[in-house]
Amino acid sequence: MLDSVLIHCPYCGEAIEILVDGSAGSQRYFEDCQVCCRPIDIRVSVDADGEPQVEVSSEDDA
Ligand SMILES: [Zn+2]
Repeated sequence: MLDSVLIHCPYCGEAIEILVDGSAGSQRYFEDCQVCCRPIDIRVSVDADGEPQVEVSSEDDA
């Protein structure tokens, strides 16, 4: 099941809606910002209620 989650681009601060598959468990991937086109490091973890928790950081923070 896909959940839409609102994140903020770590580069330009723009709010971006992404779709997260909570049933897939923890995952990490890059998605290009729709505004500034820079790669956002997206980390998804699923909490005890099955709700996806999303953390974003810039590529440089890794
Ligand atoms: Zn951006």
